[in-house]
Amino acid sequence: MFRLRTRDPINPISLISGEFINRGREETYFMTQLKQQLSAIRITILVLGALFLAFAVPDFLSNDGSFVRFSLLAGRLAVFAIVLTTFFLLKHIRNRRMYVLMITVCEASVVAVFLYATASYEQPKIMLQAFSAILLIIAFNMIMNSFLMIISVNAAMLIGFALVTRLFHEDTPQLDRIAVIVYLLVTMGLSIIAYSRTERLKRRQSVILEQLESLSVTDALTRCFNRMKFNDELHSEIERSRRYGVPMSLVLYDYDYFKTINDQFGHPAGDLVLIRTSRLVRQSIRTVDILGRWGGEEFMLLLPDTPLGPATDLAGRIKDKIAGCDCGPVEQVTCSFGVTELRDGDTMESILQRVDDLLYIAKQQGRNQVVSG
Ligand code: GH3
Ligand code: MG
Ligand code: MG
Repeated sequence: MFRLRTRDPINPISLISGEFINRGREETYFMTQLKQQLSAIRITILVLGALFLAFAVPDFLSNDGSFVRFSLLAGRLAVFAIVLTTFFLLKHIRNRRMYVLMITVCEASVVAVFLYATASYEQPKIMLQAFSAILLIIAFNMIMNSFLMIISVNAAMLIGFALVTRLFHEDTPQLDRIAVIVYLLVTMGLSIIAYSRTERLKRRQSVILEQLESLSVTDALTRCFNRMKFNDELHSEIERSRRYGVPMSLVLYDYDYFKTINDQFGHPAGDLVLIRTSRLVRQSIRTVDILGRWGGEEFMLLLPDTPLGPATDLAGRIKDKIAGCDCGPVEQVTCSFGVTELRDGDTMESILQRVDDLLYIAKQQGRNQVVSG
């Protein structure tokens, strides 16, 4: 059986097209790539469009009839108008489908006029025309497009070229005609294989990069953000709070007598407590809130747009949830909490120091409680 999918079960990539099988994933990837390549693509199509227009000169020199000359010129001008429109519209592209449509219309118009020119020339040099066809195909296959459309444009060129030479230039030697089609076919085949291989590798690398990025900010045990990422987020959030004058709160919590838990039930049981309770906390917060592992069994919550009162209430609810958590063999798990709000004149150090002091007070006052200030 022909294997259609790669082994990555989460982001399967088609072995034929080199595209993500999941449409949503493909759309996201495609649009990110497009953003990076847009200016290069716009310049490429403009240069190709101008070159294609410049071929009006050989059209004039190689043909006598004024109808042929002017219809070819009109065709080339029409292609250039399509290319120019695409050049301007590409800046405002919002989705993959629109982009694919516009690029394909450009390429299809070039193919149509090129084939019309080949048909209209009274005595075309068939090998020279084949070279032009190959050049056009290589240029097309350099421009981002959906795999289906790449195949379609290549096939249109191949079939069109075969038909035109057969119907309009019957005097072409049979062997030349076959040779030209074989050259075209081989060039297209190789270039399509190269395209799909490159696309597949690029997508695989993008998945790996994404996984690496995610790993670099995640704590391996609890799947919360690690301290480095949390620090970055805290830094940006303090800036944002200041700029827009919105409140922001911090909650720091530490597990009570965790050493005893490890000693009594073993380190794996301690790990399980951290895993289960962290999951519970993540389920209790909004998507904009950020949970980070501050170190060991100390965790920090960053609550954007939240004043001290609601932050203290949330800490109380989390305290109760942790106390009621099913943590396997460990029956009783509690945490102590410090809660504070960003104040005028606070620095990152001063707010962190304050929340740490409040947590210390909670520990001093007997643990399993929230102290805010
Ligand atoms: P307190 O109530 O004063 O906080 O008492 P405590 O026993 O929790 O004291 P402390 O905070 O000093 O101890 C933290 C312990 O947490 C020591 C360390 O071995 C354990 N710990 C830190 N990280 C992990 C972890 O990832 N897994 C496990 N199982 N234990 C951890
Ligand atoms: Mg502790
Ligand atoms: Mg601790």
